[in-house]
Amino acid sequence: MRRGRFAPTPSGDMHLGNAKIALLSWLQIRAAGGQFILRIEDIDIQRSRAEITERIITDLKWLGLDWDEGPEVGGDYGPYWQSERLELYHEALVKLQAKHCLYPCYCSRAELLAVAGAPHGLASEGTAYAGTCRFLSEAERIEKAKSKTPSLRFALGEDATSFEDGIFGPQSFPPGSGGDFIVRRADGMYSYQLAVTIDDALMGITDVLRGADLLDSTPRQLQLYQALELTPPTFAHAPLLLGEDGHRLAKRHGDLGISALRTAGARPEAIIGWIAYICGIISKPEPVQASDLVSSFSLQQVARHPFILTQQIIRQLLPS
Ligand code: GLU
Repeated sequence: MRRGRFAPTPSGDMHLGNAKIALLSWLQIRAAGGQFILRIEDIDIQRSRAEITERIITDLKWLGLDWDEGPEVGGDYGPYWQSERLELYHEALVKLQAKHCLYPCYCSRAELLAVAGAPHGLASEGTAYAGTCRFLSEAERIEKAKSKTPSLRFALGEDATSFEDGIFGPQSFPPGSGGDFIVRRADGMYSYQLAVTIDDALMGITDVLRGADLLDSTPRQLQLYQALELTPPTFAHAPLLLGEDGHRLAKRHGDLGISALRTAGARPEAIIGWIAYICGIISKPEPVQASDLVSSFSLQQVARHPFILTQQIIRQLLPS
């Protein structure tokens, strides 16, 4: 049975870019007759808000996107909130430690930022971690531990990582790309990379479809799957929606939130139709229900280029 998921972080309202990912991942699974899971990625409890989770749930239902497991419906693979899955992340961490895949890192934020000219890490992170703490002697570790609680990093393997992306095709990342990454921060918080890998694996997810901003996270997650001897899902990354300033949609484009559009009188069919149009699934931007797109959907149709969302388009989504 194919299993897919939508995994929003409830730190900001769902915008049209998130709705695009939700629609595509939902269509992929519904077209395959599989099970769709809603998972709330509130691992960063400081930045997550219960009322935003509520609005995301309302937005998804309003858009006509349902789920077989998750908030409100339950399921056999819960809990469906990351904040309730910490024990599972801890168990994975212990396994990684037993396999000598992790090392403590004592570098401060200032030290990390000071490394000029280092190769790039993930697009979202800037400079790749240079591996400073990877080869510390035991004596050096003991000395540093006297004054600082370390974060824990995953030591990347020596091989290149390749995978077939369901939208962007063959991908290959050179050995060490992105740098050794954090699995648990010094304050004890587990990282997105660890949590998402454990969740997708333990929830039996077979198909991950998410935004292209996470394409360069996939090699990291594949290394975690390998180290933990878990079977990875297939991955597909959909191009982002950009704001008029050319940057990815973010909270500062808040007026584009689905809840805001709903409150302003937009119709869900207009939004679904417009998203389907820019994805290349339908040939004209006309109102359509998500369920009407299921039977003809294929991932091969999905356009690979990013799309700029203008105020003019927003106006077209609103009642005249
Ligand atoms: N929680 C992530 C986000 O909202 C998505 C993670 C994923 O799909 O792997 O951007």
